[in-house]
Amino acid sequence: MLKDLLETKHCFKLICGAGNEDIEEVRRLVYLYALAGCRFFDLSANIAIIDSAKEVLEQAHALDSYICVSVGIKNDPHSNKAIIDYDKCINCGSCEAICPQKAIHYAKINKTKCIGCARCEKVCPKNAISYISEEKKLDEVLPPIIKRGIDCIEFHVIGQDENEIFSKWHYINEIYDGDLSICISRAKLGDEALINTLKKMIEGRKPFSTIIQADGFPMSGGDDNYKSTLQTVAIAEIIQNAKLPVHLILSGGTNGKTSELAHICEINYNAVAIGSYARKIVRKYIERPDFWTNDNVIQNALEVAKPLVDTVIL
Ligand code: SF4
Ligand code: SF4
Repeated sequence: MLKDLLETKHCFKLICGAGNEDIEEVRRLVYLYALAGCRFFDLSANIAIIDSAKEVLEQAHALDSYICVSVGIKNDPHSNKAIIDYDKCINCGSCEAICPQKAIHYAKINKTKCIGCARCEKVCPKNAISYISEEKKLDEVLPPIIKRGIDCIEFHVIGQDENEIFSKWHYINEIYDGDLSICISRAKLGDEALINTLKKMIEGRKPFSTIIQADGFPMSGGDDNYKSTLQTVAIAEIIQNAKLPVHLILSGGTNGKTSELAHICEINYNAVAIGSYARKIVRKYIERPDFWTNDNVIQNALEVAKPLVDTVIL
């Protein structure tokens, strides 16, 4: 059970990207990180993505892995897709250069790759980039996914619309009796409001059947330093101090330094979830056309992926 994995040792969770619906990229990421020792994968709530991940987990002899799917509320940045206003765009290429997902090519956005990270918007000199929210209709996507077999549903509570948060949360609780994860950040909530929201959400749930994913700066990872990871450790401390009967995962700006900083700060976390940084360090390998046919490519990729996994699970 997922609970066992979370309780026996620190667990590494690979975030493929809640909005990442590029099947081939997800296949390669899951395969590689499964070989590197990861056994917990966070995927977009999309049946084709889940099926593909399961296929490569079998190939990697990692069927003892756990799958979590992510859903959010309207305007959750994880559900956003960038769009370009071509009346303003001057085709300068800055957005293409900075996009960590390689989702922009000649000022055209590939929606299946875009994860809504907002990096492009920040560098655009003409304010030509905005977003559309593509949050999923839970009653359409979740029932078939639950039937297919998953181990956890993660709900992104990044926003202030309490009505929307609680109506969706109640719906998820009604249709799924397995482990649930709440991904929450301090971006829109003060510390007290954050803990009160969490207390209300876990009320009535079995102790330790809920995971709280303390999301520092969502989708901000990329650099391997303490500064990027500081915010997740700070929010984790607030949650830890509240002594809630939950499992605790660190995410949002996480990298190879996260575990070390969490230890220094005496955070008793169950897992570290790494997305942007984990994808970045293997990108040049997973983009190779000979990824599936050249053993050296996999070996070279493992030389960078495995040490990252080991920073968490050792
Ligand atoms: S930089 Fe981020 S938001 Fe912009 S296109 Fe790339 S993935 Fe999407
Ligand atoms: S950064 Fe802005 S102006 Fe430059 S290509 Fe991208 S959308 Fe166009």
